[in-house]
Amino acid sequence: MARILALLMFGIALFWSPPSRADVDALSLHASQSTYMPAGNVRYWVDVNPASSEQDATTALQDGRFQPVKRWPPTYGFANGVYWFALDLRNVDHPDESWLYVVEYALLDHLDLYLHYSDGRDQRFVSGDREPYAARSVDHRHFNFALKLPPGQSVSSLLRVQTESSVQVPIAIYSDHAFLETHQRSQLGLGVYYGVLIGLLLYNLLIFLSVRDRSYPYYIGYVALFGLALTCLNGISYQILWPTWPLWDDAVLLLAIGGSLTCMILFTHSFLELPARQPKQARALRIAAWVMTAITLASPFITYRHAILLETASVFLLAILMIGAGLSAWRHGYRPAYYFLLAWSFMVAGIVVYACVSFGLLPKNFVTEYGIQFGSSIEMILLSLGLAYRFKLLRDQNLQLQLEATERLETRVAERTGELHRAMGELRTANRRLHEFSLRDGLTGVHNRRYLDETLAHAVSQARERKAPIALLMLDIDHFKRINDTYGHLAGDDCLRAVADVLRNHVREGDDFVARYGGEEFVVLLPGATRDDAARRAEILRNEVAALRIDGHGATITLTISLGLAALDGGDLHSGPDKLIRAADAALYKAKRDGRNRLVCAD
Ligand code: GH3
Ligand code: MG
Ligand code: MG
Repeated sequence: MARILALLMFGIALFWSPPSRADVDALSLHASQSTYMPAGNVRYWVDVNPASSEQDATTALQDGRFQPVKRWPPTYGFANGVYWFALDLRNVDHPDESWLYVVEYALLDHLDLYLHYSDGRDQRFVSGDREPYAARSVDHRHFNFALKLPPGQSVSSLLRVQTESSVQVPIAIYSDHAFLETHQRSQLGLGVYYGVLIGLLLYNLLIFLSVRDRSYPYYIGYVALFGLALTCLNGISYQILWPTWPLWDDAVLLLAIGGSLTCMILFTHSFLELPARQPKQARALRIAAWVMTAITLASPFITYRHAILLETASVFLLAILMIGAGLSAWRHGYRPAYYFLLAWSFMVAGIVVYACVSFGLLPKNFVTEYGIQFGSSIEMILLSLGLAYRFKLLRDQNLQLQLEATERLETRVAERTGELHRAMGELRTANRRLHEFSLRDGLTGVHNRRYLDETLAHAVSQARERKAPIALLMLDIDHFKRINDTYGHLAGDDCLRAVADVLRNHVREGDDFVARYGGEEFVVLLPGATRDDAARRAEILRNEVAALRIDGHGATITLTISLGLAALDGGDLHSGPDKLIRAADAALYKAKRDGRNRLVCAD
């Protein structure tokens, strides 16, 4: 990220220069100040010869070929050649004699500092991230060189810088005390920043383990690799993780930047649900992810400068691609895109603030100096919130689907239950009909023998309970066989139906009923009728049957019936249904014997 800034600042610097000073003085150290940014006291010279020596630089200095540094900090982008910086220091009246010459950019490859004290001492320091870490005077992430400068003494310094990284040389002079105080605060800031990063990493890792959403691993990869890249840029990785492997830092930085960009692309792809919502942008991002992966894997094998330039250029293209995808997802009404864009705007704001500080447009304080750290940590927190929000949306959608499915199921169950009830009702009706059918005689439609058997006992016992009379008529068609024989069985059937109609019409009301007892014999039960009532009604029946005329079988058929009557009255109710039948039967036989077409009453 710092390299991106370097490019950015380099571009802007082309159009912007502070007024230059004609001559350059020594930096005076006074008792009132312990920290110095020596803008205005530094001169520089570029030697195209990669083997440029101190002798060359001293000659160039004497020949007046050194130029005043026009902008602070000295920033020249990815430039070739050896850069020399001349700075004279004089301790006027500062009581401290221990000072530090610090270069606050951690990616410079080779630094050589040549010192000539006014008391004749000469000293040379070697440092840089391609040099052993132990060469530093103080164990610190920035390159630093110890100066012994008691009050009244002065020193001339020549700093040689040779690097594949961008050339940024923010020189600062601190008294030992001031250095301790200042850097304690910045270390605290970095500690808080990496603490937030590690917290976010663990938090989202745990969430991923329980929800298994595919956006999480990309997010975790992005945070982890971005953090790693920043440790390289801050000089922390070289200080703490691999102080004895100077070459390792560049390779890790390239892999971490490339990897974090790849993760960010895949995160955007998955978080914004691009394949389903914006297939074209999804395809573009997938291609970008492949290209980025290729660049990342190739980066350790090409020169550092080419690799970092490729990655830096990719950042700009990818930022446009991803923010474009976020904007169109937002326009399409996808709510999590809001978090995504807000997060990115904090990141961009952080970069802008950092750039403004570098150009002196904003005062340098704890918040502005660590703009990128603030911006990126807020970005990561917002993205993490976005992930949680997106998960909530997915869960709500799932619940809604479940609810709808349950409702559909309930409606279907209700429908089925209704159908079942209807079917059972129909079945009951059919059963009732079937039952009724089984109690009817098929030919005449009056009740059958089974119905008589089921009902008679009940009717008798009811009469007994109520102490009411009950009468039973048994009747038989006279000489029926003859009718069959003369006119045929179909004529016989018509006669049976005609007699049954007479009987049925007669007993329509109340508990009375007619049953076909068998063949051409019928029973008429008359609950509540006394013997006299029953006898009167039997006579009516006999006359009605005698009056029947059945046509349609070649001649008009006439019929007579014989009847036997048995009755039980209120006082004589100890005898059961069998006795009633037997008595009526006996009376019927007597009527036949007596000459037919008559009624006989049992005793
Ligand atoms: P009686 O006056 O002594 O009763 O003489 P009957 O001929 O009526 O008596 P019998 O018992 O000898 O004959 C009854 C006849 O009724 C015999 C049988 O063929 C006839 N029969 C019985 N059931 C049916 C029926 O459902 N349809 C027809 N067409 N004839 C029937
Ligand atoms: Mg008969
Ligand atoms: Mg008979």
